[in-house]
Amino acid sequence: MKQRLFPVAILGVLLSGSVPANTQPSKNKISFSKNPIVAHRGAFKKNGLPENSIASLKHAIALKCTGTEFDIHMTADDSLVINHDPHYNKLTIEKTTYAELIKTPLSNGEKLPTLQEYTLAGLKNNRSTRLVFEIKPSGISKDRALQVTERVVSLVHRLGAAPMAVYISFDYDVCKKVKQLDPQAHVQYLNGDKSPEEIKADGLDGVDYHYSVFQKHPDWITQAKKNNIALNAWTVNTVAEMDWLLANGFDFITTNEPELLAEQLKKTPASKGWKLTWSDEFNQNGLPDEHKWGYDVGGHGWGNKELQYYTKADSNNALVKNGKLFITALKQNHDKNTYTSARLITKGKGDWLYGRVEVSAKLPAGRGVWPAIWMLPTDWKYGGWPASGEIDIMENVGYNPDTVFSSVHTKSFNHVIGTQKTKGLFLKDAGSNFHLYAMEWNRNRIDFFVDDQLFFSFRNTGKGFKEWPFDQRFHLLLNIAIGGNWGGLKGVDAQLDKAVMEVDYVRVFQK
Ligand code: MG
Repeated sequence: MKQRLFPVAILGVLLSGSVPANTQPSKNKISFSKNPIVAHRGAFKKNGLPENSIASLKHAIALKCTGTEFDIHMTADDSLVINHDPHYNKLTIEKTTYAELIKTPLSNGEKLPTLQEYTLAGLKNNRSTRLVFEIKPSGISKDRALQVTERVVSLVHRLGAAPMAVYISFDYDVCKKVKQLDPQAHVQYLNGDKSPEEIKADGLDGVDYHYSVFQKHPDWITQAKKNNIALNAWTVNTVAEMDWLLANGFDFITTNEPELLAEQLKKTPASKGWKLTWSDEFNQNGLPDEHKWGYDVGGHGWGNKELQYYTKADSNNALVKNGKLFITALKQNHDKNTYTSARLITKGKGDWLYGRVEVSAKLPAGRGVWPAIWMLPTDWKYGGWPASGEIDIMENVGYNPDTVFSSVHTKSFNHVIGTQKTKGLFLKDAGSNFHLYAMEWNRNRIDFFVDDQLFFSFRNTGKGFKEWPFDQRFHLLLNIAIGGNWGGLKGVDAQLDKAVMEVDYVRVFQK
């Protein structure tokens, strides 16, 4: 199908439009901010500005967000105006005249902005923040939405905003129309019901979906990257979701909290060159993902006179629900054991030599519990325990609930001969709040963190495997033991019927 990109009438407008010279961005001067932050309806929230106001737009530009988003509707008399809802001051925008609408100012005194006013304000002194034009579907007709689309694209070109523009819409036909009018345009679809491959096949170049869509379809993240489809997620206002999207290398994150996201960007492992290579966000309800997790099974005391029997794939002891993994120890006879529990081990590609391991967890409580987040060698190259090493990212014992420990064990340094390298950190709310237990490991050292705090380092002495067997692959273990040499040092509470460790996610990064 051969089609002119711009109808003659639009071209005429393009040529005749007069725009103040200082608002015309010349293409070669544009340098978009190298962050993924898109201010949703402008940067409004922190400073109490009205959403979609010119003030919120200017603030997003001042914050150097890589993008600022705003919503476009057309009035009954065909004015394009900026507002989120289809209603403004209880009037339906599509059925109300512009003159009627602007009788009520925004809460900061601004007039309800037109698209032209908004775009010109967005171009002023701005070469780094993309203008994200959301074309709202029409409540009246599809034709009207497509008519709005033509007018928006025409105006963007007439004002010289095309190099700064990204278009988004929930209406797929609107998205395709933009691309038809301007094949160079960046267009991202909002509705979350098309795979990146479908988006690509239809000639669009981005997906901008609610973050839960990507949690449900994690394969779409890889698919988008493979197909050069931009990844954007809305509306991301909490640190947990920000961290997840940053770890997954999203191009854009649309947020009401751009300042918070900017802070989080400084802390993210990605900013230090780490790339996510393995993760489980525990988003699929049921037993843990069998491709990622196996089980250590049995009740022989595990070398520590522990009381529990570790079950295999028993949802009473290991269950994924509501975005979290629950490991549950239960007072329950099983053969000679008085408790059941689970000890999960990463399998498949879940072995790593060097990297950063993060586990976000809330610990179980009760005298006698002994939860652990730890690593063992996969190949046992230097012989059986402890010669091939052990890395304890987090251990805690129920009789001392507000301290978490990190340790390493090697042939020369281990607890049997009292030479283990270990350190405790006071952490008052380990049993009531999630904390991030993390370990960074390279050829020279292993660093242990709780949240952002580095509290213990173990260095490679260079004296060989007896002190440093950590040049081999290790895998991760998550478990709750009951009793045992350490956990049971002060007995087991007779009332301890149930102990639960919740794990929000496991992420492994490598360089
Ligand atoms: Mg919007």
